[in-house]
Amino acid sequence: MSLHIETPLVASRPLSLASGLDIWLKLDALQPSGSFKLRGIGAACEAYARQGKRRFVSSSGGNAGIAVAVAGRILGLPVTVVVPETTTERAKQLIRQEQAEVIVHGKAWHEANALALSLMGEDDAYIHPFDDPLLWQGHATMIDEVAATGFKPDAVVVAVGGGGLLSGVCEGLARNGWGQVPVFAVETAGAASLAASMAKKQLVALDGVNTVATSLAAKQVCQRAFEWSQQRPVYSHVVSDQAALDACEQFLLDQRILVEPACGAALALAYAPTAELKRHQKVLVIVCGGVTATLDQIRQWRAAC
Ligand SMILES: *Cc1c(COP(=O)(O)O)cnc(C)c1O
Repeated sequence: MSLHIETPLVASRPLSLASGLDIWLKLDALQPSGSFKLRGIGAACEAYARQGKRRFVSSSGGNAGIAVAVAGRILGLPVTVVVPETTTERAKQLIRQEQAEVIVHGKAWHEANALALSLMGEDDAYIHPFDDPLLWQGHATMIDEVAATGFKPDAVVVAVGGGGLLSGVCEGLARNGWGQVPVFAVETAGAASLAASMAKKQLVALDGVNTVATSLAAKQVCQRAFEWSQQRPVYSHVVSDQAALDACEQFLLDQRILVEPACGAALALAYAPTAELKRHQKVLVIVCGGVTATLDQIRQWRAAC
Protein backbone atom coordinates (compact mmCIF):
# COMPACT_ATOMS: atom_id res chain seq x y z
CA MET A 1 0.00 0.00 0.00
CA SER A 2 1.36 3.41 -0.87
CA LEU A 3 1.31 6.34 1.52
CA HIS A 4 0.40 8.91 -1.12
CA ILE A 5 -2.97 9.28 -2.81
CA GLU A 6 -3.86 9.21 -6.49
CA THR A 7 -4.42 12.88 -7.32
CA PRO A 8 -6.88 14.42 -9.80
CA LEU A 9 -5.85 15.33 -13.33
CA VAL A 10 -8.01 18.28 -14.38
CA ALA A 11 -8.25 20.49 -17.43
CA SER A 12 -7.89 24.11 -16.36
CA ARG A 13 -10.15 26.53 -18.17
CA PRO A 14 -8.59 29.64 -16.55
CA LEU A 15 -5.02 28.62 -17.39
CA SER A 16 -5.99 27.50 -20.87
CA LEU A 17 -7.64 30.86 -21.56
CA ALA A 18 -4.63 32.74 -20.18
CA SER A 19 -2.09 30.75 -22.19
CA GLY A 20 -3.96 29.84 -25.36
CA LEU A 21 -2.92 26.20 -24.75
CA ASP A 22 -4.75 23.16 -23.37
CA ILE A 23 -3.48 23.19 -19.80
CA TRP A 24 -3.95 20.09 -17.66
CA LEU A 25 -3.11 20.10 -13.98
CA LYS A 26 -1.78 17.16 -11.96
CA LEU A 27 -2.93 18.29 -8.55
CA ASP A 28 -0.27 16.97 -6.21
CA ALA A 29 -0.91 19.92 -3.92
CA LEU A 30 -3.73 17.67 -2.66
CA GLN A 31 -1.39 15.01 -1.23
CA PRO A 32 -1.95 14.49 2.52
CA SER A 33 1.40 16.20 3.23
CA GLY A 34 0.48 19.10 0.93
CA SER A 35 3.12 18.39 -1.70
CA PHE A 36 4.24 15.74 -4.19
CA LYS A 37 7.09 14.84 -1.84
CA LEU A 38 4.98 12.22 -0.09
CA ARG A 39 5.14 10.07 -3.24
CA GLY A 40 8.89 9.55 -3.21
CA ILE A 41 9.48 9.94 0.49
CA GLY A 42 6.59 7.62 1.30
CA ALA A 43 8.01 5.01 -1.08
CA ALA A 44 11.51 5.41 0.39
CA CYS A 45 10.25 5.17 3.99
CA GLU A 46 8.27 2.03 3.15
CA ALA A 47 11.35 0.48 1.56
CA TYR A 48 13.57 1.36 4.54
CA ALA A 49 10.94 0.00 6.95
CA ARG A 50 10.93 -3.29 5.01
CA GLN A 51 14.72 -3.36 5.32
CA GLY A 52 14.23 -3.25 9.10
CA LYS A 53 14.84 0.43 9.81
CA ARG A 54 13.10 1.59 12.98
CA ARG A 55 13.38 5.40 12.78
CA PHE A 56 13.52 8.07 10.09
CA VAL A 57 15.84 11.08 10.34
CA SER A 58 15.54 14.21 8.19
CA SER A 59 17.07 17.69 8.21
CA SER A 60 14.50 19.44 6.07
CA GLY A 61 12.40 22.21 7.58
CA GLY A 62 10.29 22.22 4.44
CA ASN A 63 7.95 19.90 2.58
CA ALA A 64 10.42 17.01 2.69
CA GLY A 65 10.56 17.08 6.50
CA ILE A 66 6.77 17.25 6.64
CA ALA A 67 6.46 14.29 4.24
CA VAL A 68 8.88 12.21 6.33
CA ALA A 69 6.82 13.03 9.43
CA VAL A 70 3.58 12.00 7.69
CA ALA A 71 5.18 8.78 6.43
CA GLY A 72 6.49 7.89 9.89
CA ARG A 73 3.13 8.50 11.51
CA ILE A 74 1.29 6.31 9.00
CA LEU A 75 3.92 3.55 9.25
CA GLY A 76 3.96 3.80 13.06
CA LEU A 77 7.69 4.60 13.22
CA PRO A 78 9.31 7.52 15.06
CA VAL A 79 10.69 10.47 13.11
CA THR A 80 13.32 13.02 14.09
CA VAL A 81 13.68 16.20 12.05
CA VAL A 82 16.64 18.49 12.77
CA VAL A 83 16.07 22.01 11.47
CA PRO A 84 18.14 25.23 11.61
CA GLU A 85 17.12 28.24 13.73
CA THR A 86 15.84 30.00 10.59
CA THR A 87 12.96 27.52 10.17
CA THR A 88 9.58 29.17 10.60
CA GLU A 89 7.28 28.43 13.55
CA ARG A 90 4.69 27.27 11.05
CA ALA A 91 6.98 24.64 9.51
CA LYS A 92 7.98 23.33 12.95
CA GLN A 93 4.34 23.12 13.98
CA LEU A 94 3.39 21.26 10.78
CA ILE A 95 6.12 18.69 11.49
CA ARG A 96 5.20 18.38 15.19
CA GLN A 97 1.52 17.90 14.44
CA GLU A 98 2.53 14.71 12.60
CA GLN A 99 3.98 13.50 15.91
CA ALA A 100 7.58 13.89 14.81
CA GLU A 101 10.33 15.15 17.10
CA VAL A 102 11.74 18.53 16.03
CA ILE A 103 15.28 19.46 17.10
CA VAL A 104 16.38 23.04 16.38
CA HIS A 105 20.12 23.27 15.80
CA GLY A 106 22.51 25.59 14.01
CA LYS A 107 22.30 28.83 12.06
CA ALA A 108 22.12 27.22 8.64
CA TRP A 109 20.97 23.98 7.08
CA HIS A 110 24.44 22.36 6.90
CA GLU A 111 24.79 22.59 10.69
CA ALA A 112 21.36 21.02 11.24
CA ASN A 113 22.20 18.34 8.71
CA ALA A 114 25.53 17.57 10.42
CA LEU A 115 23.71 17.00 13.71
CA ALA A 116 21.11 14.83 11.97
CA LEU A 117 23.87 12.65 10.51
CA SER A 118 25.58 12.38 13.91
CA LEU A 119 22.33 11.06 15.43
CA MET A 120 22.16 8.15 12.99
CA GLY A 121 22.09 4.76 14.65
CA GLU A 122 22.17 1.36 12.98
CA ASP A 123 18.39 1.06 12.78
CA ASP A 124 17.86 4.61 11.49
CA ALA A 125 17.25 5.66 7.90
CA TYR A 126 18.36 9.09 6.72
CA ILE A 127 15.85 10.48 4.23
CA HIS A 128 17.40 12.77 1.64
CA PRO A 129 15.05 15.47 0.25
CA PHE A 130 15.86 14.84 -3.43
CA ASP A 131 18.87 12.62 -4.14
CA ASP A 132 17.76 9.00 -3.78
CA PRO A 133 16.63 6.57 -6.54
CA LEU A 134 13.82 5.36 -4.27
CA LEU A 135 12.44 8.89 -4.23
CA TRP A 136 12.51 9.22 -8.01
CA GLN A 137 10.69 5.90 -8.45
CA GLY A 138 8.02 7.14 -6.08
CA HIS A 139 7.66 10.54 -7.76
CA ALA A 140 7.34 8.76 -11.13
CA THR A 141 3.95 7.35 -10.04
CA MET A 142 2.39 10.73 -10.86
CA ILE A 143 3.15 10.10 -14.53
CA ASP A 144 1.87 6.50 -14.29
CA GLU A 145 -1.43 7.93 -13.05
CA VAL A 146 -1.62 10.39 -15.95
CA ALA A 147 -0.90 7.60 -18.45
CA ALA A 148 -3.58 5.40 -16.86
CA THR A 149 -6.23 8.04 -17.64
CA GLY A 150 -5.46 7.76 -21.36
CA PHE A 151 -4.31 11.39 -21.61
CA LYS A 152 -0.97 11.94 -23.36
CA PRO A 153 0.65 15.38 -22.92
CA ASP A 154 2.64 17.12 -25.66
CA ALA A 155 4.82 18.78 -23.00
CA VAL A 156 5.27 18.74 -19.22
CA VAL A 157 6.00 21.75 -16.99
CA VAL A 158 7.73 21.13 -13.69
CA ALA A 159 9.52 23.16 -10.98
CA VAL A 160 13.14 22.28 -10.14
CA GLY A 161 14.91 22.61 -6.78
CA GLY A 162 17.37 19.79 -6.12
CA GLY A 163 15.97 17.95 -9.11
CA GLY A 164 14.31 15.00 -7.40
CA LEU A 165 10.94 15.89 -8.88
CA LEU A 166 12.46 16.38 -12.34
CA SER A 167 14.23 13.01 -12.06
CA GLY A 168 10.98 11.32 -11.05
CA VAL A 169 8.97 12.95 -13.84
CA CYS A 170 11.59 11.97 -16.44
CA GLU A 171 11.66 8.41 -15.06
CA GLY A 172 7.87 8.25 -15.21
CA LEU A 173 7.80 9.56 -18.77
CA ALA A 174 10.47 7.05 -19.80
CA ARG A 175 8.73 4.06 -18.24
CA ASN A 176 5.48 4.97 -19.99
CA GLY A 177 7.13 5.22 -23.42
CA TRP A 178 7.06 9.04 -23.40
CA GLY A 179 10.80 9.61 -23.46
CA GLN A 180 10.50 12.15 -26.26
CA VAL A 181 7.81 14.30 -24.60
CA PRO A 182 9.65 17.54 -23.76
CA VAL A 183 9.93 18.69 -20.17
CA PHE A 184 10.04 22.40 -19.31
CA ALA A 185 12.08 22.70 -16.11
CA VAL A 186 11.39 25.94 -14.26
CA GLU A 187 13.51 27.65 -11.60
CA THR A 188 13.51 31.09 -10.01
CA ALA A 189 16.38 33.43 -10.90
CA GLY A 190 17.92 33.27 -7.42
CA ALA A 191 18.21 29.47 -7.46
CA ALA A 192 18.76 28.56 -11.11
CA SER A 193 21.20 25.70 -10.55
CA LEU A 194 19.87 23.48 -13.35
CA ALA A 195 19.97 26.40 -15.81
CA ALA A 196 23.60 27.06 -14.83
CA SER A 197 24.55 23.39 -15.25
CA MET A 198 22.78 23.09 -18.60
CA ALA A 199 24.50 26.25 -19.87
CA LYS A 200 27.92 24.83 -18.94
CA LYS A 201 27.02 21.26 -19.93
CA GLN A 202 28.40 20.10 -16.60
CA LEU A 203 27.10 19.92 -13.05
CA VAL A 204 27.83 23.25 -11.35
CA ALA A 205 27.23 24.49 -7.81
CA LEU A 206 26.01 28.06 -7.30
CA ASP A 207 27.89 30.24 -4.79
CA GLY A 208 24.61 31.01 -3.07
CA VAL A 209 20.86 31.03 -3.49
CA ASN A 210 18.40 33.84 -2.90
CA THR A 211 14.70 33.33 -3.65
CA VAL A 212 11.31 33.42 -1.95
CA ALA A 213 10.80 29.96 -3.49
CA THR A 214 12.55 28.33 -0.53
CA SER A 215 11.69 24.83 -1.75
CA LEU A 216 13.75 25.49 -4.88
CA ALA A 217 16.77 26.84 -2.98
CA ALA A 218 19.33 24.14 -3.78
CA LYS A 219 22.82 25.26 -4.77
CA GLN A 220 23.24 22.22 -6.96
CA VAL A 221 20.88 19.76 -8.59
CA CYS A 222 21.50 16.05 -8.14
CA GLN A 223 23.62 14.28 -10.73
CA ARG A 224 20.62 12.31 -12.03
CA ALA A 225 18.63 15.46 -12.82
CA PHE A 226 21.56 16.89 -14.77
CA GLU A 227 21.94 13.60 -16.65
CA TRP A 228 18.29 13.60 -17.66
CA SER A 229 18.73 17.14 -19.02
CA GLN A 230 21.49 15.85 -21.30
CA GLN A 231 19.73 12.62 -22.34
CA ARG A 232 16.21 13.69 -23.30
CA PRO A 233 14.42 16.89 -24.37
CA VAL A 234 14.54 19.24 -21.37
CA TYR A 235 14.08 23.00 -21.73
CA SER A 236 15.31 25.16 -18.89
CA HIS A 237 13.24 28.22 -18.03
CA VAL A 238 13.92 30.85 -15.35
CA VAL A 239 11.27 33.14 -13.84
CA SER A 240 11.50 36.02 -11.37
CA ASP A 241 10.33 35.71 -7.76
CA GLN A 242 7.72 38.31 -8.67
CA ALA A 243 6.33 36.15 -11.48
CA ALA A 244 6.20 33.09 -9.18
CA LEU A 245 4.36 35.08 -6.49
CA ASP A 246 1.92 36.59 -9.00
CA ALA A 247 1.17 33.08 -10.27
CA CYS A 248 0.43 31.88 -6.71
CA GLU A 249 -2.09 34.67 -6.22
CA GLN A 250 -3.70 34.13 -9.63
CA PHE A 251 -3.85 30.35 -9.14
CA LEU A 252 -5.58 30.83 -5.80
CA LEU A 253 -8.22 32.93 -7.55
CA ASP A 254 -8.52 30.58 -10.53
CA GLN A 255 -8.35 27.15 -8.90
CA ARG A 256 -8.90 27.97 -5.22
CA ILE A 257 -5.70 26.20 -4.20
CA LEU A 258 -2.88 27.91 -2.30
CA VAL A 259 0.61 26.79 -3.31
CA GLU A 260 4.15 27.87 -2.47
CA PRO A 261 6.18 30.15 -4.77
CA ALA A 262 8.17 27.02 -5.70
CA CYS A 263 5.05 25.72 -7.40
CA GLY A 264 4.17 29.24 -8.54
CA ALA A 265 7.36 29.20 -10.64
CA ALA A 266 6.01 26.36 -12.78
CA LEU A 267 2.58 27.98 -12.92
CA ALA A 268 4.17 31.27 -14.06
CA LEU A 269 5.36 29.57 -17.25
CA ALA A 270 1.91 28.06 -17.80
CA TYR A 271 0.24 31.47 -17.41
CA ALA A 272 2.74 33.15 -19.74
CA PRO A 273 4.11 30.47 -22.08
CA THR A 274 7.29 31.08 -24.07
CA ALA A 275 7.35 30.66 -27.86
CA GLU A 276 9.03 27.29 -27.27
CA LEU A 277 6.21 26.03 -25.04
CA LYS A 278 3.59 27.41 -27.43
CA ARG A 279 4.76 24.91 -30.03
CA HIS A 280 2.93 22.30 -27.94
CA GLN A 281 -0.82 22.09 -27.50
CA LYS A 282 -1.63 19.76 -24.59
CA VAL A 283 0.51 20.84 -21.64
CA LEU A 284 0.65 18.96 -18.36
CA VAL A 285 1.59 21.14 -15.38
CA ILE A 286 2.80 19.40 -12.25
CA VAL A 287 1.12 21.30 -9.41
CA CYS A 288 3.71 20.26 -6.82
CA GLY A 289 2.01 22.23 -4.01
CA GLY A 290 3.88 23.11 -0.82
CA VAL A 291 2.53 24.16 2.57
CA THR A 292 5.22 26.32 4.15
CA ALA A 293 4.03 29.71 2.84
CA THR A 294 0.83 31.29 4.15
CA LEU A 295 -1.24 33.68 2.05
CA ASP A 296 -0.09 36.52 4.36
CA GLN A 297 3.53 35.58 3.71
CA ILE A 298 3.00 35.47 -0.04
CA ARG A 299 1.37 38.90 0.03
CA GLN A 300 4.18 40.35 2.16
CA TRP A 301 6.76 39.01 -0.30
CA ARG A 302 4.79 40.44 -3.20
CA ALA A 303 4.60 43.85 -1.56
CA ALA A 304 8.39 43.79 -1.04
CA CYS A 305 9.20 42.70 -4.61
C1 LIG B 1 10.73 19.98 -2.98
C2 LIG B 1 9.83 20.86 -3.74
C3 LIG B 1 10.12 21.27 -5.06
C4 LIG B 1 11.38 20.90 -5.77
O1 LIG B 1 11.62 19.54 -5.81
P1 LIG B 1 13.09 18.99 -6.03
O2 LIG B 1 12.96 17.54 -6.02
O3 LIG B 1 13.94 19.52 -4.90
O4 LIG B 1 13.55 19.55 -7.33
C5 LIG B 1 9.18 22.04 -5.71
N1 LIG B 1 8.04 22.41 -5.12
C6 LIG B 1 7.73 22.05 -3.87
C7 LIG B 1 6.45 22.50 -3.30
C8 LIG B 1 8.61 21.26 -3.14
O5 LIG B 1 8.29 20.90 -1.89
